Amino acid sequence: MSTVEYLRAGDVTEAIALVSADPDAAYLAGGTTQLDLMLKDGVVEAGTLVDIGHLPLRGTEILGDTLRIGALTTMAELAADPVVVDQRLSLVRDALLAGASPQLRNMATIGGNLLQRTRCRYFRDRLVPSCNKRSPGSGCAAVHGPARMHAILGADRNCIALHASDLCVALVALDAKVGIQGPDGQRSVALTEFYVLPGNSPDVENVLRHGELITHVDVPLPTAGIRSEYLKVRDRASYEFALISAAAALVIEDGVIADARLALGGVGTVPWRAREAEEVLEGAPANNRTFRAAAEAVLRDPYTVPGTEFKVELARRTIVRILQNVSGVQS
Ligand code: FAD
Ligand code: SF4
Repeated sequence: MSTVEYLRAGDVTEAIALVSADPDAAYLAGGTTQLDLMLKDGVVEAGTLVDIGHLPLRGTEILGDTLRIGALTTMAELAADPVVVDQRLSLVRDALLAGASPQLRNMATIGGNLLQRTRCRYFRDRLVPSCNKRSPGSGCAAVHGPARMHAILGADRNCIALHASDLCVALVALDAKVGIQGPDGQRSVALTEFYVLPGNSPDVENVLRHGELITHVDVPLPTAGIRSEYLKVRDRASYEFALISAAAALVIEDGVIADARLALGGVGTVPWRAREAEEVLEGAPANNRTFRAAAEAVLRDPYTVPGTEFKVELARRTIVRILQNVSGVQS
């Protein structure tokens, strides 16, 4: 068994310096992903864990027309924060409460949620040799099936691993931005640009460079009159990852959709912003015909493998259902 050094950073600068200086070091926030992968599954290694859990990156504040969420705010704290509902962000709360369990939500942080790793069972089984994400160039065991909790959009024969976060689906729909601090300073990246498709390098999941720390997430406050919802379809009603999920926010004026945001979970290798659907929705009458056309537009070219075919129709139905719920249109 290999040993792991545990360090507690005194402040943000020290944390970044410690991880940047050591290619084998990783940040430790709530530990609900990192420790599972290292100690339970044995598929991730880190020589040093730099504990950031106590750094002053916790809580929310309103900055003009933006809600800033500290990266070390726990999922439970954010879900209970009245500002989330007061500022028309109840879909964020609903996405948080649809994820994990109360115990996990008390530990798990918002930064860690963005960086959670895939639940692909082949990735998490170190006895499976073919996994391009774990061992680049080794192949992908999942594409031969059986697969189920896998992606059908943004996937190809190199990797069909799903991004399993619920929260990120809501954040992507709301045009959230990720605040990042590294040895070379600070930057801000739109969440829609933060994740990268697997392509030929499934081991690269996002644009974060080694040593960079997520400090916060900025969420633009939705305009008045917006209606929104988070809908999660899963095998059981609680403590289960999504088969399909959706976050939708609509502004409807005189029966016409003036503004549409739609994002999907359970389908993509990254949290999936459904721009094709939004183009169909905007300017169109809010009715079932429009909703079905929007669902078709997203699922024109899915990549399925044995076991994931059912997701195509389930995703269509989930999109239509959430649009009905948000608009009040009957089925
Ligand atoms: P950690 O485990 O501490 O870290 C995760 C990764 O992020 C590590 O690589 C770490 O180095 C890095 N990291 C953490 N914080 C930062 C930072 N600020 N800057 C840079 N790097 C950082 N999620 C859902 O959305 N929906 C679910 O239904 C759901 N179900 C779950 C069920 C189980 C049984 C478990 C174990 C997890 C589930 N999760 C679910 C995932 C859970 O939300 C994440 O494990 C959690 O949010 C990770 O946060 P953490 O603080 O524990 O991160
Ligand atoms: Fe590995 Fe991705 Fe294939 Fe899963 S889907 S086995 S993570 S390469």
